[in-house]
Amino acid sequence: IDQAPFASEPHLNFSEPKPRTAFARAVKQHRSQTPREYPLFIDGQWIKTKKKLPSINPARPDEVVGQVYQAGKREVEKAFAAAQAALPVWRDTPFSKRAEILFKAADLARQKRLELAALQISEVGKAWAQADGDVTEAIDFLDYYAREAMRLGRGHGLVSPPGEKNTYFYQPRGIAVVIAPWNFPLAISMGMTSAALAAGNPVLYKPARDSQVVGAGLAEIFDQAGLPPGVLAYLPGPGSTVGRQMVDDPRTSLIAFTGSKEVGIEISQRAAQIQPGQRHMKKVIAELGGKNAIIVDSDADLDEAVAGICASAFGYQGQKCSACSRVLVLEENYKRFIDRLIPAAQSWVMGDPADPATDIGPMVDQAAQKKVLSYIELGKKEANLLWQSTPPKKGFYAPMAIFDQVPPESRLATEEIFGPVLSILKVKDMDEALFLALDVDYALTGGIYSRSPNNIERAIREFRVGNLYINRGVTGSMVGRQPFGGFALSGIGSKSGGPDYLIQFLEPRCVTENT
Ligand code: GLU
Repeated sequence: IDQAPFASEPHLNFSEPKPRTAFARAVKQHRSQTPREYPLFIDGQWIKTKKKLPSINPARPDEVVGQVYQAGKREVEKAFAAAQAALPVWRDTPFSKRAEILFKAADLARQKRLELAALQISEVGKAWAQADGDVTEAIDFLDYYAREAMRLGRGHGLVSPPGEKNTYFYQPRGIAVVIAPWNFPLAISMGMTSAALAAGNPVLYKPARDSQVVGAGLAEIFDQAGLPPGVLAYLPGPGSTVGRQMVDDPRTSLIAFTGSKEVGIEISQRAAQIQPGQRHMKKVIAELGGKNAIIVDSDADLDEAVAGICASAFGYQGQKCSACSRVLVLEENYKRFIDRLIPAAQSWVMGDPADPATDIGPMVDQAAQKKVLSYIELGKKEANLLWQSTPPKKGFYAPMAIFDQVPPESRLATEEIFGPVLSILKVKDMDEALFLALDVDYALTGGIYSRSPNNIERAIREFRVGNLYINRGVTGSMVGRQPFGGFALSGIGSKSGGPDYLIQFLEPRCVTENT
């Protein structure tokens, strides 16, 4: 077992010829092969059903990435039965043994990292570095939670006076349902699943509709890593049927969800209902949206600010809950900032993510594309459109757009768009900046560019978001370095990739023996 302290998996450096050529080959190879079929994974078996759906490439909607068999009521029922049968054995498997399987899964993911990242280029439209980053984050979650499992497996010391022996240790909660998003299709799926598994909970995993092929890759990794049958099920299917059935079932003890505020709230409400025969309360861990702001102080380094803001607003087409969608600029710097921001945004290359020159690709699907287009139309009424890009015609591309004169209470300034649309608001001082930064439903990420130690200190105290970044962009949190997650309507539950995450999947027990 790996006893070394946790270290992040290095990213590939695509400016070097070797990784560049190898990755180009992986992308090409994936695209040229006939689309594979992906069955469900239940009770250690790969199962085909009557219904299969194509997963398509958002940059080329006529290209099928894979055919994915769909779960229905029967398959979910089968997965619950298998998970329940597997629970006693998995629960009593030592933490160290479960950690070993996670380390093994991390090694398998490392071996296939090019293939796993190439798949994301085709299935969810990630640019090269973003796809590579998602896979390394998945590896990091496995390596990190394996170590966390070993730590928590040791329990806690308690005071034990003569004649009394006290012990404190953790047990898993029961069957966990993992409902994952498509935007970090391997990383977030892997994070929630591996945490639940490391803690000893069997998992029913439902990938998002737009990333079901990547989701199958997760199941393959755990199958190969030697997970006992029944401990993991891969169940692609609609949230409105399969997802609800998984949440409502009385055998579910815990639900780990990452996705929209609306679905998170619905899950929370459904989970609160005690079903007939249910003898426990369900625990919900939910990581939801953001409407994240970056403050640009009057003395900010604008070169840094402009680069960091573009990366945070437009990276992966703005489809990150951590993305920056509002910039609050102190009025002294306003004109200078805008004059630099627009040309910087214009330099972003929009195109097919298979091409390494692409900075920004298509939206994940047609609904996402339409949503961005409708917000741009709305923005034209509510605010002033400073600039928008002209996207490629074919594929689910949406323009990048920058608005200013955005009223703080407008929909543009308060609703999560999940696209490359940036609102700029002019503020007169730091008081107004901090007030507006927090005057939304969410509290996920935030940033400040400033050279003033006082203002930085003030932001640390008053800019109450889950992840605050000073003089850098607000996306790209790293496991073990920037444990990630927020509060308010950005979610309930502690930060992924941090020291309080795994414990949420466990219940403590205390035993006292009179000796
Ligand atoms: N952890 C990611 C980041 O820091 C965001 C996760 C998400 O969008 O759900 O960029």
